[in-house]
Amino acid sequence: MERDSKSTVIVTGASSGVGLQAAKALTKMGWHVIMACRNLEKTQKAARDVGIDPENYTIIHLDLASLDSVHKFVNDFRATNKALDALVCNAAVYLPLLKEPQRSADGYELSVATNHLGHFLLCNLLIEDLKKSELKDPRVVILGTVTANRKELGGKIPIPAPPDLGELKGLESGFKEPVAMIDGKKFKSGKAYKDSKLCNLLTMKELHRRYHDSTGIIFSSLYPGCVATTPLFRNHYPLFQKIFPLFQKHITGGFVSEELAGERVAALVSDPKYNKSGVYWSWGNRQKDGRASFSQETSSEANDDRKARRLWELSEQLVGLA
Ligand code: NAP
Repeated sequence: MERDSKSTVIVTGASSGVGLQAAKALTKMGWHVIMACRNLEKTQKAARDVGIDPENYTIIHLDLASLDSVHKFVNDFRATNKALDALVCNAAVYLPLLKEPQRSADGYELSVATNHLGHFLLCNLLIEDLKKSELKDPRVVILGTVTANRKELGGKIPIPAPPDLGELKGLESGFKEPVAMIDGKKFKSGKAYKDSKLCNLLTMKELHRRYHDSTGIIFSSLYPGCVATTPLFRNHYPLFQKIFPLFQKHITGGFVSEELAGERVAALVSDPKYNKSGVYWSWGNRQKDGRASFSQETSSEANDDRKARRLWELSEQLVGLA
């Protein structure tokens, strides 16, 4: 195994937005970044456009909406012989206008498949690699969001519904056609995204419970602020895409730039300040210069250990680990 002077971090979805800027910030901090992306050419161009030194990154193909692709990615990463010191689960799709569900290669609803199940499998496979890190505290950072946490105003928004995994009936019944929601109820595309991000939070907490004490790995999540300019909103109404950044800048004050959001992710990966496991970090909903981060309280559903364990077991079955 190659052990060079640089630590290595995998960042999923590093071809745009927060992931691209996190990759850039991490290379500036001295990390080698594995950009795990589904479109190699786009990623190469994006890395060049933002000026990331080609010495400091490697692009490896990963389509999180395909379980085969996740396995292949892990094999391809291992073939580089690099040690793994951190993993950032950042990639996501948000498909708020869909009337009918889209499906992953494995037949699962696409946003839960990409945002949760693909990352769930990736984390499970790469735990073994992270255990071998020579860093004192290797880290896994999973992107969260305010709209998945009912403890925050954004998580209470009833359009189309707040996040709610119910009793996980949809997952229990196999999560394939005609099932499209984790709770087994009627498909609501915007809620599917919120549910998938709630799964990200529950997964972080369950990873912490299962692995932190025995491995020393730090598991954490963050809400980086409202990064209203990223392509995450590309599937929304064009008018929404125009107004949303202005609304967040001038009305709510929740807006952060892609650069700042990326720096926040990078800080969770490498700053000793964030060496606490099981924490969901936030900078609040009103951004101010120099605003300090804090450990954000999470909803009763996100704190439900029984649900986290059940989600874990069902996810293991759906990704073929059980
Ligand atoms: P973005 O610019 O759209 O980035 C999403 C990334 O995910 C892209 O690189 C995209 O790749 C990748 N991706 C999508 N489907 C994939 C798949 N099947 N396999 C591999 N990669 C895939 O969005 P963003 O705003 O930076 O979002 C990054 C993270 O921040 C997400 O987890 C999101 O939930 C979180 N977040 C964002 C905000 C915000 O306000 N924007 C707020 C809170 C949290 P392509 O380039 O190939 O499409």
